[in-house]
Amino acid sequence: MTQQILGKTKLLGVIGDPVEHSLSPVMHNAAIAALGLDYVYIPLPVKGEDLSRALAGLEAINVVGFNVTIPHKQALVPLLADVSPEAQLVGATNTIWRTPSGWSGTNTDVEGFIAPLKAVARDWSRISPVILGNGGAARAVVVGCWQLGCSQIHVVGRSEQKLQQFLHSWTDPALQKALTVHQSDLPALLSQTQLLVNTTPVGMFPQTDASPLDEELVSKLQPATIVYDLIYNPNPTRLLKQAQERGAIAINGLEMLVQQGAAALKIWLQQDVPVEVMRQSLRQYLG
Ligand code: NAP
Repeated sequence: MTQQILGKTKLLGVIGDPVEHSLSPVMHNAAIAALGLDYVYIPLPVKGEDLSRALAGLEAINVVGFNVTIPHKQALVPLLADVSPEAQLVGATNTIWRTPSGWSGTNTDVEGFIAPLKAVARDWSRISPVILGNGGAARAVVVGCWQLGCSQIHVVGRSEQKLQQFLHSWTDPALQKALTVHQSDLPALLSQTQLLVNTTPVGMFPQTDASPLDEELVSKLQPATIVYDLIYNPNPTRLLKQAQERGAIAINGLEMLVQQGAAALKIWLQQDVPVEVMRQSLRQYLG
């Protein structure tokens, strides 16, 4: 049933460039409908050069809160009145809400990333994760692994210059010390890790035959390794199929998407939210 938008309907949304492909409206509007609340969540395309004006505009039209997606997650941080310690650690924000002193921001991607890992019993302090990719999502993954208690975290990328920038971009010295970046060494890293996380878009729809690991690299994985692909379409990705054939534990990106969204909605509504409704709405949408 289509929700009726009324004069009193409160506004939530997502800013980004582009935002057309965001699945956030699907899960947030499903949750809002299930709760019977008079809110609506809408996509709001905003160009980088318009970020400050957009923030003022969103305040002027009384928006309650909004998500931030590519490419604004890092650029928005200095424009906020208050930034949570978690968002400061990541250096990026994805969830913004109004306070009397202005916009506040946090990063629920970390909580979203960790959620499915908490269901897997492991002594995280003994695990040295291997993270493929050094972009925006890798930042939340690094902080997530750090919060789990991993004391050594390996990040593998394809550009030495970007890897060095990534390594030196952290404000927390202890976290930075736990990080090692690699342009090669993948075979050795894969054979010793119990947690591999793909944060590259390799294997994402429509390139569903692609995988960040060839068969030789996959053969290095130990059977009980957790292989976590942040991609949620397709489910499973080629990487996860390869990993499962090796006896690994596969986690796809859908639960991270759901849990980061649920954490954001909880902040805006200040109440519990129907996580299962959000999960099912995305599953149904993605087929
Ligand atoms: P991003 O900032 O563009 O970073 C992408 C990273 O992947 C970069 O390090 C890039 O390398 C690397 N990369 C791109 N193409 C590659 C290739 N062909 N081979 C090797 N490395 C490649 O993007 P992002 O925001 O981090 O997002 C990355 C992925 O995570 C996307 O698939 C996105 O959908 C997914 N994601 C999922 C969730 C979720 O909730 N499940 C949340 C956020 C992101 P260079 O730096 O060298 O260019």
